[in-house]
Amino acid sequence: MSILNEFNLNIENQQIHLSELHQYDVELWIKREDKIHPQISGNKFRKLKYNVIEAQHQEKNTLLTFGGAYSNHILAVAAAGKLNNLKTIGVIRGDELAFNLDKVLKENQTLAQAKEFGMEFEFVSRETYRNKTSDSFVRELKNKFGEFYLIPEGGTNQLAIKGCEEILTEEDEKFDYICLALGTGGTISGIINSTKDYQKVLGFPALKGDFLQKEVEIWTNARRNWKLSNDYHFGGYGKFNPELIRFINDFKRETNVLLDPIYTGKMMFGVIELIKKNKFPKGAKILTIHTGGIQGISGVNKKLRSKNLEEIQL
Ligand SMILES: *Cc1c(COP(=O)(O)O)cnc(C)c1O
Repeated sequence: MSILNEFNLNIENQQIHLSELHQYDVELWIKREDKIHPQISGNKFRKLKYNVIEAQHQEKNTLLTFGGAYSNHILAVAAAGKLNNLKTIGVIRGDELAFNLDKVLKENQTLAQAKEFGMEFEFVSRETYRNKTSDSFVRELKNKFGEFYLIPEGGTNQLAIKGCEEILTEEDEKFDYICLALGTGGTISGIINSTKDYQKVLGFPALKGDFLQKEVEIWTNARRNWKLSNDYHFGGYGKFNPELIRFINDFKRETNVLLDPIYTGKMMFGVIELIKKNKFPKGAKILTIHTGGIQGISGVNKKLRSKNLEEIQL
């Protein structure tokens, strides 16, 4: 049986008090999914839970997945594999990384930790990466590594969404709004599927691209109680600016909650701006989801340091 079943997934909500929101009549809360596990953070744990069980059921002893060099998902799969005695293979975007692997592992904590958990890497060119789901490439991977259980980039599939349907609890039925960040849209789909009709789900894509609207529609059937806000991607996936970094540091100082700059920081920035613009009705109870991602901060800080910019305070 999967050892992921033995973790406590009963995550408490924390109320957020910010001086700048003092005069606004709303309640702001955050669900601390970031506390589930230090490496399998937040929604990645939820997404992997039933996939690991399925891999074991299919008697596969290897998990194979795809990701960028700083991917939360890559590290999560490596850690989940280690916990469950499964081999893991990470197909990583960027074949230039392979030429310099020792140096890369010194500077990149995500890959260094994944390797410590036993993950084997297959570095591929950006072009190969774009075609990673083609039959011919998957066949090539099977020839090289043998049989494996394939988990898509970002971890989103039907079983991942089933796991994310367990994020909200009965206690959360008191909230009017659920707010969270999107990458592939898997997590928000699970959340939407588990909401009551009177609840609204507000999604904040961490990247540019209108494909997410369709993607979420596919996974959520006929539910209509959700909306995406495309105003807070800060220029695209992995992009950020000094204002966002300052926001994350201020938020940490006042609430003791550390947000990540790729997903949760952008989402919380958006929620607070929408509160200040009076976009939520009076008395609204808002639950934000801390989907994790703290492991990615060190890579971002390295970039900030090299540009002599303010870093994120851990
Ligand atoms: C992967 C990730 C997301 C995006 O989840 P999707 O299900 O791909 O939309 C959000 N937040 C964090 C911290 C993540 O690591």
